[in-house]
Amino acid sequence: MSLVRDLSRLTDEQLLNMRLCDLPLSIEGTPLERRVDRLYQELHAHGLLFKPHVWLSEEWFTPDDVPGIAIPFYLAHPRLSQLERKQMFEVEGGTERDCLRIMRHEAGHAIDNAFHIYARRRYRELFGSFTRPYPNWYKPEPNSRDYVLHLPAWYAQAHPAEDFAETFAVWITPRLQWKKQYEDWPALRKLEYVDQIMKELVGQAPTNTSRERVEELHEITITLREHYHRKRQYYAFQWPPDYDRDLLRIFSSESHQKPDLNAASFLRRHRRQLCSEVAKGTGVHNYAIDQMLVHLITRCKELKLRVSLTEENAFQRALVLLTVQTINGIHSGYHRIAL
Ligand SMILES: [Zn+2]
Repeated sequence: MSLVRDLSRLTDEQLLNMRLCDLPLSIEGTPLERRVDRLYQELHAHGLLFKPHVWLSEEWFTPDDVPGIAIPFYLAHPRLSQLERKQMFEVEGGTERDCLRIMRHEAGHAIDNAFHIYARRRYRELFGSFTRPYPNWYKPEPNSRDYVLHLPAWYAQAHPAEDFAETFAVWITPRLQWKKQYEDWPALRKLEYVDQIMKELVGQAPTNTSRERVEELHEITITLREHYHRKRQYYAFQWPPDYDRDLLRIFSSESHQKPDLNAASFLRRHRRQLCSEVAKGTGVHNYAIDQMLVHLITRCKELKLRVSLTEENAFQRALVLLTVQTINGIHSGYHRIAL
């Protein structure tokens, strides 16, 4: 048992064979506890009595009609954060800043459930119907000013409930001057509405006091291996890529006199940097971009492409190609998640 308790001593293989329910984890005594406290302080600073309950699960989410927040297990232990990064190339909520950013969004869902704000007429007018079915994907308009910008990938555009949660998150972020920042944006009306509702709720006890915990870690019997298998399938882009023409603008199919570099190894060498640059610029998950890059590398091999430009030039063009393809991917329906 001591082997299981000390997760940091386990190899990746040993960890992947473990079931989620057997992970000896808790929020208490970890940096997560401090972050949750900070969220509570932010709510308290506005005079709100509401404190969402939190528990560990597979991913970030707020269940339907539950005024509480599920936090992914990998944030409760550094060894699991490390495994998450290796499996998914990214740790969502891994830093204090990112973690609070996501928690503020989830707190928006939780307070919506706690006071049934979504049942109000004005909510429906501003955000749309809360009960609208969740889409498997959404097509964001990157230039829209009808929605606030908080989580990546224009997430407020995914669903009315997400729009509300994102608006709440912007509203509650300390030191964010939303009135100024969203001046002249139609989204300002949504922020003002949230501001008005939260003033009404000062000192009010929630109407929904459920402490239900959905999909708590100790109930999840799949192994970490299965969990990551599913997660990777879920994040990958679903549209059929066709890069050939773009690839031929960067690489050449003719062989040169001098010993030149093959395009596949060039891309492989810059894989990590390309992925993280595009992920930062577009808000799309690192894993989805990496999958696209894997297709590109395969295609370069099949077409026997070579690098004929300087490496720096080729890198810049590869970055543009990958960004454009990522945006196309978003437009053909990218389902990031139900955060
Ligand atoms: Zn959400």
